Amino acid sequence: MSNNEYDVVIAGGGIAGLTAGLQCARAGRKTRVLTGPALGGHLLSIERIDGYPGFPDGIPGYDLCPMVQEQAAGAGAEFDASAASGLAALDGRWRVTTNGGDLWTRAIIVATGTTSRTLGIPGETRLRGKGVSHCASCDAPLMRARVAGVVGGGDSALQEALTLAQHVARVVILHRGEAFSAQEAYCRQVRAHPKVDVRFDTIVEDVLGDAVLTGVRTRGVRDGTTADLELAGLFVYVGLTPVTAWLNHLTDLDETGRILTDSAMRCARPGLLAAGTVRASSAGRAAAAAGDGATAAIAADGYVKHGIWPTS
Ligand SMILES: Cc1cc2nc3c(=O)[nH]c(=O)nc-3n(C[C@H](O)[C@H](O)[C@H](O)COP(=O)(O)OP(=O)(O)OC[C@H]3O[C@@H](n4cnc5c(N)ncnc54)[C@H](O)[C@@H]3O)c2cc1C
Repeated sequence: MSNNEYDVVIAGGGIAGLTAGLQCARAGRKTRVLTGPALGGHLLSIERIDGYPGFPDGIPGYDLCPMVQEQAAGAGAEFDASAASGLAALDGRWRVTTNGGDLWTRAIIVATGTTSRTLGIPGETRLRGKGVSHCASCDAPLMRARVAGVVGGGDSALQEALTLAQHVARVVILHRGEAFSAQEAYCRQVRAHPKVDVRFDTIVEDVLGDAVLTGVRTRGVRDGTTADLELAGLFVYVGLTPVTAWLNHLTDLDETGRILTDSAMRCARPGLLAAGTVRASSAGRAAAAAGDGATAAIAADGYVKHGIWPTS
């Protein structure tokens, strides 16, 4: 096999891609993991991953992900930080275009995860990194003794509001709905937390501030009244967009843009698999993404060994 030829290439260095890399390398497959912009993916910035097996008190993502990478590299997986930008099926192989050159592989596991959705309102892009953020653990320590806002009502919003509350004077959760969609455990902690206030039925209309964020303008869903709220930080958790544009429409997506697979993580085209939160029906939790990665690796190994694909 020449230098740029692989049994399995994995696009994505989150927990799904890292686990797939580990399992493919352990199966003796020549494996390359393209980690893209963020080795560790979303978990890297999470101070306490809840619900991951083996860590009853949680574990920081910045501890867990390098451990898995090290384990995969120890098993023989190759890593690089390039991003996949294109994919083509040619003569029973896949050509993966990356910013570091082309790679050829029998099987490709897509584990490119998601990016955080934005509010799409004035000022948000201009003040990103100047008060507007998607990472509580990175930016909260800069806002001690001040007030931070969190937008959203799901697991991520509430979990990160609780992380913020450890650092700042007060947290205000702004949610457009009339109730949270998060797990009850998070809702309970938020309700009981003396430093967290909640404003339901509230839309963030504008981000205020010239050089840095100074606050937001909100509008009530029910009465339409607007109000300004002074904030040192605004943390946005309003959903996730799957990273699939680079696939050139080679695979079927569900209505949310996530990749359709069978239960072995296989797509319709032989040798193409998907794992983690980029996949339709992903459970959205880290343990589920790791499980997807392991399942995809086993299916990819079987394909490389036997060349059989159920739908081919
Ligand atoms: C704020 C927040 C808190 C959370 N807390 C928890 C928790 O406590 N417990 C829990 O179980 N889950 C939690 N989750 C969910 C968890 O983060 C996800 O389930 C998990 O990160 C999914 O992993 P993944 O590998 O599928 O994708 P991601 O984590 O999204 O990783 C995607 C990877 O793909 C790479 N990539 C992107 N584009 C390309 C490309 N073109 N080429 C190559 N690589 C590319 C990225 O660099 C990254 O390495 C949380 C999520 C958020 C947003």
